[in-house]
Amino acid sequence: MTPLNLNHSEEVQSLMEDFIARAVELYGGLSDQPVSRPIKSQSLKRLKAQAIPADGRDIKDIYREMLDDVFSSAILLQHPRSFSCIPSTASLLSWMGDIMTNAYNPHASCQINAPAADLIEKKLIRWMCGLAGYPKTAGGLFVSGGSMANLTALTAARDDRLSYEDRDRAVIYVSDQTHSSVAKGLHILGFRRDQIRIVATDALFRMDIAALHAAISQDLAARKKPFAVVASAGTTNTGSIDPLVEIGALCRSYDMWMHVDGAFGASALLSEEGRKKLSGIEFSDSLSWDAHKWMLQTYGCSAVLVRNQSALVHSFAAHPEYLKDAESSADGVEFWDLGPELTRPARSLKLWITLQALGSRAMGQVIDHGCAMAELAENLLRKSPHWEIVSPAQLGIVNFRYVPDPTTPNSILDRINQAISREITESGFAQVFTTELRGNKVLRLCAIHPETTERDICETIERMAHTQAVSKALQAAG
Ligand SMILES: *Cc1c(COP(=O)(O)O)cnc(C)c1O
Repeated sequence: MTPLNLNHSEEVQSLMEDFIARAVELYGGLSDQPVSRPIKSQSLKRLKAQAIPADGRDIKDIYREMLDDVFSSAILLQHPRSFSCIPSTASLLSWMGDIMTNAYNPHASCQINAPAADLIEKKLIRWMCGLAGYPKTAGGLFVSGGSMANLTALTAARDDRLSYEDRDRAVIYVSDQTHSSVAKGLHILGFRRDQIRIVATDALFRMDIAALHAAISQDLAARKKPFAVVASAGTTNTGSIDPLVEIGALCRSYDMWMHVDGAFGASALLSEEGRKKLSGIEFSDSLSWDAHKWMLQTYGCSAVLVRNQSALVHSFAAHPEYLKDAESSADGVEFWDLGPELTRPARSLKLWITLQALGSRAMGQVIDHGCAMAELAENLLRKSPHWEIVSPAQLGIVNFRYVPDPTTPNSILDRINQAISREITESGFAQVFTTELRGNKVLRLCAIHPETTERDICETIERMAHTQAVSKALQAAG
């Protein structure tokens, strides 16, 4: 039998050379590209018709199709005028780390499999724990995203604070701004909806500490078992930061686990200003921190950190017989003992490369720049009587809506602002989505991309003010 040609080495080399040039060019000219690039009907047709062939096809054709049909049609979340959701800040450096890591494909589950990658991940985890103000007992690992980080931390919280008998009467506290991944995680962990208390937020969308305290007292009186509070350090809607110092004190006095969801906002620890805003984060028992949101990383790069690494070991260590020979680390703890995954990619190498190349100070400047861009947007919007600020700039996010006339009913305002979002997004110039705050549809800018310019912000607001939706609304208002 002739051996199968599985690698196509020569073709791969020349195609990848071509691809690297294209990718570098793409990143160099993001601002000149439209943000949203809808899929072409031809592409859709071709992809739908393509079956899995019994015999392989020419890799050069496949390469073309991937470029023309697949990669050309996604929204560029790493575009400097991508302002919706939490945009991506992915950098070329991270991408370089990604392709290097993927090529060597280290199995970053335990020390013996990939000792250097293991060391680098531990160093990064220790560095991040240091920034969070955690003691020496702290630890953690890299997971795919904030949702997984929250799930991992909440598992540790449950196992650390609840006996099996207690689980049924356990109660956990979140706010009306807590990210949906927390409820999802709690569902996976077996908690019922009625075990989640949704605490109200104040005018700046921060958890109301008096309401939290009242809810805990009420639950204790009803013989429930309050076991954890999920505080947000940077909510997805508004960038608001819950009162971490006060929540920390409440958790200590009631012996509750304090989890901080910093998936979006924990990166602010890299900036001096940001660190002040996150004061109190050091009281938490666990912290979720996405590097793929505000630390320039491509997807799949998030850290879950815990004050006591032993809590993760308690929840996740399994020690099966087929892995005994691979257990080698001095403290007897491998990454597979700290979370749900066994096989895992070395997610942190790209972050290491990025930090080595740029330094932590530049990362801090990225944070300050994002905050400044949202503040600029807020200031510009305040200059026009028709724009109403619904939530001021907090951690790079500002929420607002167009109000043609103070007497316009909310249902009409919802429709106008939805239409503004649709128009600016469909134009391809910028991507601005709506969210809902206190039942009202609002426009939301998350301006964290380091290459977003003042001009980008001015022009985006300018263009929104000149949409058809706005001119129609003004006409209607007379
Ligand atoms: C984005 C986000 C998450 C979810 O993180 P993924 O990486 O998308 O899984 C959780 N919490 C907050 C506050 C977020 O902004």
